[in-house]
Amino acid sequence: MQFRDLKAQYTQYKSVIDDAIHNVLNTGQYIGGKPVNELEKDLAEYVGVKHCITCANGTDALSLVLMAWDVKEGDAVFVPDFTFFSTGEVVSFNGATPVFVDVDEKTFNIDPEKLTQSIEKVNKEGKLNPKVVIPVDLFGLPANYNEIEKIAKSYNLLVLEDGAQGFGGNINGEMACSFGNAATTSFFPAKPLGCYGDGGAVFTDSDETAEMLRSYKTHGKGENKYDNVRIGINSRLDTIQAAILQVKLHAFKEHELDGVNRAYQLYSERLQNIVETPFIPEGYYSSFAQYTIKLVSKKQRNALQDKLKENNIPSMIYYTKPMHRQQAFSDLPFDERDFPVTNKLCDTVLSLPMHPYLKEGEITRVCDVIQDFMSD
Ligand SMILES: *Cc1c(COP(=O)(O)O)cnc(C)c1O
Repeated sequence: MQFRDLKAQYTQYKSVIDDAIHNVLNTGQYIGGKPVNELEKDLAEYVGVKHCITCANGTDALSLVLMAWDVKEGDAVFVPDFTFFSTGEVVSFNGATPVFVDVDEKTFNIDPEKLTQSIEKVNKEGKLNPKVVIPVDLFGLPANYNEIEKIAKSYNLLVLEDGAQGFGGNINGEMACSFGNAATTSFFPAKPLGCYGDGGAVFTDSDETAEMLRSYKTHGKGENKYDNVRIGINSRLDTIQAAILQVKLHAFKEHELDGVNRAYQLYSERLQNIVETPFIPEGYYSSFAQYTIKLVSKKQRNALQDKLKENNIPSMIYYTKPMHRQQAFSDLPFDERDFPVTNKLCDTVLSLPMHPYLKEGEITRVCDVIQDFMSD
C-alpha cells in the first residue's frame, strides 16, 4: 500500500498524458505557449476568479503576491503556527516579520479569535505594521474565511489564501483559491492537483495585482522582458507541466475529488468511534490533501505509527514541529503559552494513506489495524 499512489493515476491516463507531452515536444515551444495560456484560463474558470497566473512552485506563488503587495521590512504578516514551512518562510524571505497564530483544535486552521488577539498585540507593541494574513487550507479544508475576512476588513489587512493543499475544496459552493484578495496553490506531485514536477499558481480578481504578478514573475518586466522596471524573479510553469495539468485537471474534476471524499467517508465510518477523525464544518467541502486522525498522546500516536509500519502501512506526521519552534525563526521571540493547540497537535496527529485510487479493501485493512491497536 502506498501513502499517495501517483503511479496509479499515470497508469490510468498513460496514453492521454504521453500524447500531451509528445505534442509539446513536437511543437518545439517549451516555455509558455498554448498549454500554459489555456491552463490559466481553465484554472481561473474552475476557481471562479478573473486571473490565474502560473509560476514555478507554490512557494514562489506566495512570495510573488507579497512582492506585488510591496510587503517589506517592518510589516507584520500573520501565519498559522501549524503549517508547512513555506507559509512563514516567504514572509521572512521578503524582509517582513511572520507572526505565528495558534490554530483551531478541530479544523487545524488559523483560529480567528487568536488572530484578533495577535493583531491587537502587534498594534499595542507599535513596532510592526500589520499588513497581511495568510490563512492556510490545511489538509484540504478551507480556512474560516467568513470570520477571517471580517477581521481583515476591520484592521485593514490583506488576505492571502495559501491553497497549496486546498485546491478543489469549497465553502457553500465558493471554491478554494477564490478567497481573500489573492490565493495561491502548488502543483507539487502529492498535492490535490499535482503535476509531474514543480508548479504553482496565483489567483486574483484584481487587475492591478495580476499585472504586478506578471511583471514580478518575469524579471520585473515593463513593456516586455527586456524592459525591466523592478527587481523580480524568474518563475515559470513549464509548458510540459501545463500540458500534463490539462489532463490532470480533467481527471480531478471528473472523479479524483469525489474519490478522496469517498475514501474519507469510508475511513470515518469505520474510525469515528475509535479515534478522533477529521472534522468538516457544515457547508465545507475538503479536497483531502491528507486524512489526519488525532490520538490522545504522543506515546499512543507513535505506537500506532509503529504498529501500522509492522503491517506495511505507511503513515506520516504532518507536522512534527510548530513554526514558532523552527530554528530558522529562532530570532523571533515567542511565548509557549500562545500555542497550546499547535503544540498538542504536533504530538498527536497522524496522517493515513489517502489518494483518489485508494481501494476499499486497503482502507479496511488500515482500519482493522487501528481497531486492533485501540482495543489492545
Ligand atoms: C506544499 C506547500 C507549499 C509550497 O508549495 P511548493 O510547490 O512545494 O513550493 C506552501 N504552503 C503549503 C501549506 C504547502 O503545503
